[in-house]
Amino acid sequence: MIYFQSLTQSELADLLRPIGRAKIERQAVSPEDAEKKIAQRARYRAKQIFHWVYQRFTFDWDLMTDLSKELREWLKVNIELYRPPVLERRQADDGTVKFVWELTDSKTVESVIIPVAARELELDSETQPETQPRFQGDAEWSRLTACISSQVGCAMGCKFCLTGIQGLDRNLEVHEIIAQVLEMRVLAPLTNIVFMGMGEPLHNLENVIKASQILLDQDGLNFSKRKVTVSTSGLVPAIEELGRRIDISLAISLNATTDEQRTEIMPVNKKWNIEALMAACRKFPLGSHRRITFEYVLLGGFNDSLEDAARLTDWIRGIPCKINLIPFNEHEGSVYRQPSEQRVTAFQKYLVDHGLTALIRVSRGAEILAACGQLRSLLKLQSV
Ligand code: SF4
Repeated sequence: MIYFQSLTQSELADLLRPIGRAKIERQAVSPEDAEKKIAQRARYRAKQIFHWVYQRFTFDWDLMTDLSKELREWLKVNIELYRPPVLERRQADDGTVKFVWELTDSKTVESVIIPVAARELELDSETQPETQPRFQGDAEWSRLTACISSQVGCAMGCKFCLTGIQGLDRNLEVHEIIAQVLEMRVLAPLTNIVFMGMGEPLHNLENVIKASQILLDQDGLNFSKRKVTVSTSGLVPAIEELGRRIDISLAISLNATTDEQRTEIMPVNKKWNIEALMAACRKFPLGSHRRITFEYVLLGGFNDSLEDAARLTDWIRGIPCKINLIPFNEHEGSVYRQPSEQRVTAFQKYLVDHGLTALIRVSRGAEILAACGQLRSLLKLQSV
């Protein structure tokens, strides 16, 4: 059995070619004519099926009424629509909803829907909404971002992250990545996708690239390349390969301004230091009016000084970018502290005064543990 969500549209079309082949061969004027018609018909069928699943959210082959009976029977036997059960779903007062999915091997991963109201987007002109999605009752949101996972656990070991502390269990398969988006898309008109949940997406590069192709497919989930963002802790060769192979948006989890500081909280920096990372960012192919996002988790008393703000300004000079400042969300057992409001504001002011776009991203859904890895850890602890 093949999982439907693991297939690109052209892979599905290839699988569909043998169905009804004999009939076309009988009717065709030549073998070349037959091959052409078989390929055309398979492409058309694949497109229809993509529409049924990804745009009409139909998960029963029998309900796809414009497909032939023969094709529906073939689909039942050969292709499975993957629907991971929701183990936990929690909603915060600010509208954030966090999901924990159970995978077929009983492992769990998390995804979050983060709604953003129009007033919160005023500063963020690049991401002005195209839609006014409705989600969770009567509230109107200007952006609904789905934050998805790419691995079970993570090997990167970032010190401020609970997933990092747990280590890597395994990569997610393409269908497990796509299913997170599809299941949430059924519930809400998502506008943006960020690979910022559990795992380092570029450590699972092949599956993340293929999943992104399905997310961007106009007959599939149909997200624009501006609205799908891969966030990395800084795997430099993979950043270069990502840029060569697919046109989507890039975010860098930077979080420090000296190598000493960054290596302390992000071991990946030992292999690729800030200079190498910035060189990869400068080379990353960006379309017109597109920018790299730098994520900067502000850790109280560690990386939130004005000297840090000055060094950050120097590092990113000349790179089309915006900076998301994320005050650390303190959790039990963490050695790092939440920064004071005053330091956060002063840090942002320094960047803005030096001509940069810097936004403070309030931790969403703190009461449902929205920070990376936290909900899963809690569930794990409870089940021990
Ligand atoms: S912050 Fe991201 S890259 Fe770092 S350990 Fe956590 S999941 Fe991995």
